[in-house]
Amino acid sequence: MSPVRIVLIYQSLLGIYGDRGNAMVLAKRLEWRGIDHELIVVEPGEPVPPDAGVYLLGGGEDMAQISAVRALTSDTNLFRGMDAGAVLFAVCAGYQICGQTFTVGDHDEVIDGLGLLDVTTRRGPQRAVGEILTRWTRPDGSVSLITGFENHGGFTTLGADAAPLAQVEVGIGNSGDGTEGAVQGRAIGTYPHGPVLARNPDLADHVLSLALGRDLEPLDLPEVDRLRADRIAHVRAGRRRVGA
Ligand code: GLN
Repeated sequence: MSPVRIVLIYQSLLGIYGDRGNAMVLAKRLEWRGIDHELIVVEPGEPVPPDAGVYLLGGGEDMAQISAVRALTSDTNLFRGMDAGAVLFAVCAGYQICGQTFTVGDHDEVIDGLGLLDVTTRRGPQRAVGEILTRWTRPDGSVSLITGFENHGGFTTLGADAAPLAQVEVGIGNSGDGTEGAVQGRAIGTYPHGPVLARNPDLADHVLSLALGRDLEPLDLPEVDRLRADRIAHVRAGRRRVGA
């Protein structure tokens, strides 16, 4: 079997929130299981490999989003990779640019997104900043908590073809409507940083399972479980809500 190819896209544009950690987490969880993989970092001007198992996009500032969406649109290989069955995991600015449109800047200029997720993003009434806790229903029907840190001015509305990734327990998420993130086919968008896949191993393994087409045996990492429990207790102790 060929190595699982993890492609981290445009760190110079979408790298300021530490979301590259998601790529490291995926690679490490494959390594711990002895599964062959490679991690490729692609910068603007370099072609995106069209044959990834997982594409990763991270958070960034408004103007960087415009550059990223333009470069990805002209490159076209992300679309080819998704057509070929890759998984896409996109965070915050990365999530927004995967949608139909998003707005940026003081004049709320509307920019076309990549159209990989049926969502639209507009400037919200406030900036969503702080710890977020959501409830994610896993494919087997069990619920897993997702913890992270959100920091976005854009508020996202889902269209008919996208389903929410999770329901918000603490924080704002998509727009304060109780939903967080979006899933459409093999594309997943979400707001939390953390990096979110470091804080939420179940979600990391879900992304890997999608890419591999099979379930993965669990990893026993008590220190990760302890840190996670601390985070969840911390965010529940300092509840936030829209308007707070
Ligand atoms: N620029 C976007 C916003 O503020 C995304 C920010 C981010 O990626 N954290 O909505």
